[in-house]
Amino acid sequence: MTTSLTNDQLSQWDHDHFFHPSTHLGQFARREMGNRIITSAKGVHITDREGKTSLDAFAGLYCVNVGYGRTEIADAIAAQAHELAYYHSYVGHGTEASITLSRMIAERAPEGMNHVYYGMSGSDANETNVKLVWYYNNVLGRPQKKKIISRWRGYHGSGLVTGSMTGLDLFHKKFDLPLDCVVHTEAPYYFRREDRSMSEAEFSADCASKLEELIQREGPDTIAAFIGEPVLGTGGIVPPPAGYWDAIQAVLKKHDILLIADEVVTGFGRLGTMMGSDHYGLKPDLITIAKGLTSAYAPLSGSIVSDRMWKVLERGTDENGPIGHGWTYSAHPIGAAAGVANLKLLDELNLVNNARDVGAYLNTAMADALGAHANVGEIRGEGMMCAVEFVSDRDDRVFFDPSQKVAPRIVAAMLDRGVIARAMPQGDIIGYAPPFSLTKAQADEIVTATKAAVDEIL
Ligand code: PMP
Repeated sequence: MTTSLTNDQLSQWDHDHFFHPSTHLGQFARREMGNRIITSAKGVHITDREGKTSLDAFAGLYCVNVGYGRTEIADAIAAQAHELAYYHSYVGHGTEASITLSRMIAERAPEGMNHVYYGMSGSDANETNVKLVWYYNNVLGRPQKKKIISRWRGYHGSGLVTGSMTGLDLFHKKFDLPLDCVVHTEAPYYFRREDRSMSEAEFSADCASKLEELIQREGPDTIAAFIGEPVLGTGGIVPPPAGYWDAIQAVLKKHDILLIADEVVTGFGRLGTMMGSDHYGLKPDLITIAKGLTSAYAPLSGSIVSDRMWKVLERGTDENGPIGHGWTYSAHPIGAAAGVANLKLLDELNLVNNARDVGAYLNTAMADALGAHANVGEIRGEGMMCAVEFVSDRDDRVFFDPSQKVAPRIVAAMLDRGVIARAMPQGDIIGYAPPFSLTKAQADEIVTATKAAVDEIL
């Protein structure tokens, strides 16, 4: 949509009326921070109303995986809107798009995961997951088994239970979260381990024994599920240390605790493989999907349910009547049409393999350029994800005081050079998660801008 309004007029309305998420309201109102009105995008570049173009090395919010301006998806959305913009999916109704998409997801999901419930966002999909876990345990006659374990630094959404599962202070403070039904355990963050003498394998074993302790403290009969992202995303882009998921899954199995793999970021190719669960050998009972499902061309999320859970849910409806959980927009046809076109495009353009290869190139180039810098503590990544973490003292691993805003200042200096990266919310960490269509030359541009910005700020 374009308007004939001046930039100043739009900006005024923006400040007067638009409540921006995840924004410092006071600073925005006082105009201590800028606003940026985006007008168009193509490939890996976005353009704003002042005509400035930037390379988007975070793919929006790591969601525009196939890149911007894909006419195949836009055309599929338009065709669906003309033919059938909406019908609901209650009491057995569906559309060709929603049924086709369900089949395509089941074909790409780990073995034994064949049923998809749709929502509109990662948050509501995780809300659905918690409700399904509770329903499951009620059908099995163990109503006390309800608590959810998540990790500090995990990100699972901004709702009541999902904001509780999110393990970042900012999402709890002043919101009266976390709710009592959620308890947190150690983050699989090897670089920040307390005991620096530990090997990765020892640290993974330690995470598993801390989980075991927590379960014993709370009572194994009260714990229903464990939720985790295959690679921590918003919490700092942290791939798991060696042996982590095997060690965690052994504990969950022992106590009959369900595993929810939150693949909102990792699902559909971001790690260079179709699903993060397969990448790390996870055997989940539920998988959360969202961003990469439509590459954000339309809002759509899903909960993939294992056959094992499905049997119990089915039994529950035989005993109690239809499942009392539904959204007006579940499996919205426009979202479903976008999803079908997006998954086809991933295959046709070989984008998952490109994410693997160019992602590896980006990580290596970043390490070559910045690995020896005195203030770089760690460079890490997997597939088309990369993070650079800054420290004030590398040998003693001393972190900067947050008031120095090191990562936000570097990110701002990168933007001046035409590259968007993200200062992750907790710690001085810069995150990268570009569209999968990134070329090696564009990866070089990202690295060059980062290096120049680091040299300017530190
Ligand atoms: N889970 C993960 C792993 C996420 O990264 C996000 C969003 N960044 C969510 C859930 C929540 O998704 P949404 O913002 O669409 O509600």
